[in-house]
Amino acid sequence: MVVSEIIGVVGAGTMGNGIAQVAARAGYQVVLRDVKEEFLERGLKAVDRSLQRDVDKERMQPAEKRDVIERITTTTDFAALAPANFIIEAVTENLAIKTEVFRALDEVASPAAILASNTSSISITKLGAATRRPHKVIGMHFMNPVPVMKLVEVIRGLATSDETYERTRALTEQMGKQALECNDSAGFVSNRVLMPMINEAIFALHENVATRESIDGIMKLGMNHPMGPLTLADFIGLDVCLAIMNVLHEELGDPKYRPCPLLKRYVDAGWLGKKTGRGFYEYEK
Ligand code: NAD
Repeated sequence: MVVSEIIGVVGAGTMGNGIAQVAARAGYQVVLRDVKEEFLERGLKAVDRSLQRDVDKERMQPAEKRDVIERITTTTDFAALAPANFIIEAVTENLAIKTEVFRALDEVASPAAILASNTSSISITKLGAATRRPHKVIGMHFMNPVPVMKLVEVIRGLATSDETYERTRALTEQMGKQALECNDSAGFVSNRVLMPMINEAIFALHENVATRESIDGIMKLGMNHPMGPLTLADFIGLDVCLAIMNVLHEELGDPKYRPCPLLKRYVDAGWLGKKTGRGFYEYEK
């Protein structure tokens, strides 16, 4: 079943360009929107690099790569999203910004369109309430890196209809991913469990329990995790990690979710992880 011909993606950053790539590779036309041309160019370059890796490994023909890229059009204009019947928002993890985006999408999108958010922690119910179609608002939480990771956590807001859920699950499968359902609660399942573990690893570093290498090594070798929690935090982005811990702390009100002061300090310094060249580790920009 083809659930949607045109997919809108809002935000061309780490997640948005990955979502655009996977949707285009599944055969959908994609309209990708960001606030500046340079962010769109950067997003498209990331898609190009990612697909080129598949070409180099002979997992994709060069012609297919070209077709996938040609299916993605970019825009800075919200109105260009009007023909999309499924729009996935992947902008900065900030309630005010996302609320504004959902209001704008509600204005331009066709009444039948579903509005999905890739938020890591913000309430889907709240985003739905910013629109006149809360029954058509849903969480579609892809994992990073999107082209590689199988899971999409599909989150029902309080008002999300069964039809919206079914269309979202079907689209997820069309994109070659597996949907697992959960209800709207801070951090959903993935970040409710993952982020406190990362935060605890940062506390362990902060309190000099061990070096960064030991903390990561213990979790890798001892728990069979594919990467240590500090490396993973750098990969996710320390600003994203802090934003999620703040949501867990504020929404659930339990002090066990307070973000580690070291995490706050790193974000203050602009040490946001891999994307800025420095986080708990140093990277080539
Ligand atoms: P990012 O900072 O890499 O990208 C965000 C993009 O949104 C930027 O390009 C920014 O210019 C753009 N943007 C901001 N306001 C906009 C607007 N009004 N309209 C269009 N574009 C706008 O962030 P990211 O890591 O891609 O995260 C995006 C979302 O995905 C967040 O909600 C985050 O919590 C979630 N998420 C992130 C990860 C991860 O590992 N990074 C994993 C799962 C989910």
